[in-house]
Amino acid sequence: MIDPDLMEILRCPLCHGELDEDEAASELRCVECGHRYPVIDGIPDMVVDE
Ligand SMILES: [Zn+2]
Repeated sequence: MIDPDLMEILRCPLCHGELDEDEAASELRCVECGHRYPVIDGIPDMVVDE
């Protein structure tokens, strides 16, 4: 779903942890802090809403 090259460079903006792709839920999940980011049309939305 997401370009593997893009996954390589993507990091959680909150803790800079690695991200896991959850294809079923169309989202990325941070393996460190568990924050989830929606994926829209193959583009991860990394905006952190706080
Ligand atoms: Zn994180």
